[in-house]
Amino acid sequence: MKITSDITLVAPCGIFCGECEAYKCKDDSALMERMMNSKVLKKEMLPCPGCRAIKGNCLAVDGTCATYACVIEHEVDFCFECPEFPCAKLNPAADRAEVLPHNIKVFNLCCIEHQGLEKFLESIPTIKQRYYRGKMLIGQGPQLK
Ligand code: SF4
Ligand code: SF4
Repeated sequence: MKITSDITLVAPCGIFCGECEAYKCKDDSALMERMMNSKVLKKEMLPCPGCRAIKGNCLAVDGTCATYACVIEHEVDFCFECPEFPCAKLNPAADRAEVLPHNIKVFNLCCIEHQGLEKFLESIPTIKQRYYRGKMLIGQGPQLK
C-alpha cells in the first residue's frame, strides 16, 4: 500500500503519538508539570516530538523501541507491511490495558491498511473514546452512550 499522507505522528506499530500525553504536554503547562513528575518517562526528552522524529527512542522505553528497530530492519513504514505481521511484539496483553493503549495497535494498523491513513486520522478520537470509555457489548464492540 502506498502511503501518501503525513505519517510523522503515527508510529510504525500503529500508536498515534499525537494523542500521547508526552507529546500533548508541549501545549499544556499543567500536563507538562504532571509529566515531569512521571517515574517512568525520560523527562529530559519532554515534550516528545513522536516516535518517528526520535527514531524509536520512546520516552516510555528503555533505549530504542524493539518494534521500531524491527520495522527499520524489515524496511517498512508500518508493521502491516511486514511479512511477519502480526508478530508476538504486537500480541495483546491484559497487563496495564486500562491505562496504556498497546492493545489498540493491531486494530489501528488494520484501519490504516484497509481504510487509509486519512480516514484513520479522522477516526482516532472515536477509537480512543471507545477503547477507554466504551461499555463492551459482546459481539458489538465497545459502545458509547
Ligand atoms: S514516542 Fe512514545 S512517548 Fe513519544 S509521543 Fe510516541 S508514544 Fe508518546
Ligand atoms: S516482525 Fe513484527 S514488530 Fe517487526 S516489523 Fe514485522 S510485524 Fe512489526
